[in-house]
Amino acid sequence: MVTVMVTACPHALGVAIPLVVAISTAVSARNGLLIRNRTAFEEARKITAIVFDKTGTLTEGAFGVTEIEVLDKNANADQFLATVAALEQQSEHPIAKGIVRAAKDKNLVLPSVENFASMTGQGISGNVGGENWQVVSPSFLKTNGLQIPEAATERTAETVVFVLKNKELAGFIALADKIREDAAEAVRELKNQNIKVFMATGDNPQVAKYIADKLNLDGWFAEVLPHQKVEIIKDLQSKGEFVAMTGDGVNDAPALAEANIGIAVGSGTDVAAETADIILTDSRPSDVVNLVRFGKATYSKMVQNLWWATGYNVFAIPLAAGILHPQFVLSPALGAVLMSVSTVVVALNAQLLHRFLKNQNGKKW
Ligand code: ADP
Ligand code: MG
Repeated sequence: MVTVMVTACPHALGVAIPLVVAISTAVSARNGLLIRNRTAFEEARKITAIVFDKTGTLTEGAFGVTEIEVLDKNANADQFLATVAALEQQSEHPIAKGIVRAAKDKNLVLPSVENFASMTGQGISGNVGGENWQVVSPSFLKTNGLQIPEAATERTAETVVFVLKNKELAGFIALADKIREDAAEAVRELKNQNIKVFMATGDNPQVAKYIADKLNLDGWFAEVLPHQKVEIIKDLQSKGEFVAMTGDGVNDAPALAEANIGIAVGSGTDVAAETADIILTDSRPSDVVNLVRFGKATYSKMVQNLWWATGYNVFAIPLAAGILHPQFVLSPALGAVLMSVSTVVVALNAQLLHRFLKNQNGKKW
């Protein structure tokens, strides 16, 4: 009876899961994945569809101003840029940072702004020199019955924002962004794992199509407002998909919360990081692939460990109970050794998760 009790001590069972959790959390953190919600991480293996935000997620979000068009030919272009930059100084959108940088490069003095307001996913507004200024998206123009100037529609691969002075079109600024280096590879890998890859962006359809074609996406949605990103997630879920959302902006936060797994890009906003289950600290889209892979590896280690921890009892307990008596009797001391060995096996097996890094074709993962 003593041997049975010693052998059946569920020590290995107790450490089977926590050891894997501790190791996988540490390994993930070291490789660019900050796990805020364990359950979401372990469910990463179930992902069937993933929706990426564009700006700052698939692209670097480091916009450079490529063109400034002022409609009023008598207006001073530098003053125009200074006014817009003054407004944008108070926004944390990547577009805003690009415009402010352009003004700084020209050493422009920025005027003061009053009544600044941000319309998430649409643009910003504020008063400069007693006049109302707005910097907005093409869809904002459309919903407010304003015509998009022809010169702007020609710029198909760029993001264009429009400047309104007292609600009248005053000009536009075109900006270019770069696709993140590993975005294409990430998309390819995700598709290889039978995961559908979509993009949902607040930007205009031309840019969206340009990026979607370049990355060979399964589908894209353009000019979507934050609540519409949520609808896209819900729609996919209702079709039976297990959906992950990856985004960086305030505009992505509702969708990050709605998705089965919310993934925030580290270089993005605090709001996105606060809402997400997992944060990509190195801001690499390919880390999403690692997340799925490592989520799978972690889960299978857990299952293996449960087998090791309980499986050994299948033969050890009958032995301890004297099934082979009188040919073989398991002594309490030997029972204790067996019990300890099962714990050691479980611990060593969990350690193998470190090896997962080296198995990824010599790459970091
Ligand atoms: P994305 O989904 O690609 O990250 P957002 O939803 O953040 O884009 O923004 C959608 C659109 O709203 C932008 O493409 C831009 O036209 C406009 N916009 C948003 N914020 C700003 C801003 N600070 N200044 C100018 N335009 C903005
Ligand atoms: Mg974004």
